[in-house]
Amino acid sequence: MIDLMDLHTHTAACGHAYNTLYEMARSASEKGLPLFGSSDHAPAMPGSCHKYYFTNFRVIPRTLYGMPLLMGAELNITDFDGQVDLPQEILKKMDYAIASIHIQCIPKGTEADYTRAYVKAMENPLIHIIGHPDDSRLPADYDTLAAAAKENHTLLEINNSSLTPGSIRVGAADNYARLLERCVHYGTAVILGSDAHVEADAGNHRYAVKLLEELAFPLELVANTSLERAASFIPNLAARLDEPLLRARIQARQDAESEISSGEAER
Ligand SMILES: [Zn+2]
Ligand SMILES: [Zn+2]
Repeated sequence: MIDLMDLHTHTAACGHAYNTLYEMARSASEKGLPLFGSSDHAPAMPGSCHKYYFTNFRVIPRTLYGMPLLMGAELNITDFDGQVDLPQEILKKMDYAIASIHIQCIPKGTEADYTRAYVKAMENPLIHIIGHPDDSRLPADYDTLAAAAKENHTLLEINNSSLTPGSIRVGAADNYARLLERCVHYGTAVILGSDAHVEADAGNHRYAVKLLEELAFPLELVANTSLERAASFIPNLAARLDEPLLRARIQARQDAESEISSGEAER
């Protein structure tokens, strides 16, 4: 599959990742990624950025190392009503937002509680992606999630970090198999995210791609494969679709991919 973007990445600003924004962007650019997004943990995550971090994005060039850049956040869903840890006024000014449940940022609940938390977050029009809904420690009803994501036009993330051997999250591969089956049923779109906390992982969707291939998941439901598809979920991306630089990087990515496939055919 031709993978055009990684919108789930972290920088040293969040307190538990290890590269700067510029180092992350340079790494993604050198790998030929057409579009990169930085999404640091919002303030409820212990040790992470103050809300001022997210209010000063205007100073950051939206092209770094010749690569278009989006500046967003990974919000924490902090209660079972889908409350998140940045106010709507700040979300409105960011390029996009992911919302995730982290075990340390929400009270202990039941499957019904976590399911409701996700669905309520999806109802927030300023939340575009639900991050890593894949952890057996935070059980959710995947039929309800896939249906609600379709209804609210929210992307569900397939998180590469959760699928990487040694992940602290539990049961991701099995949970995604169940979730993706429901996504096919409802026609719900997903997005692959690296959740990179070091530059080497920027754009790394290796395990997520492998899982989609194993499940023969339809690529027309994967936002990463089409800028237009992704932009239908992320309004601030729609405004950038005609940027020549973005188009050129997509073309280069497609050319590289077809060279690889023709090379494989020759062998
Ligand atoms: Zn993190
Ligand atoms: Zn997360």
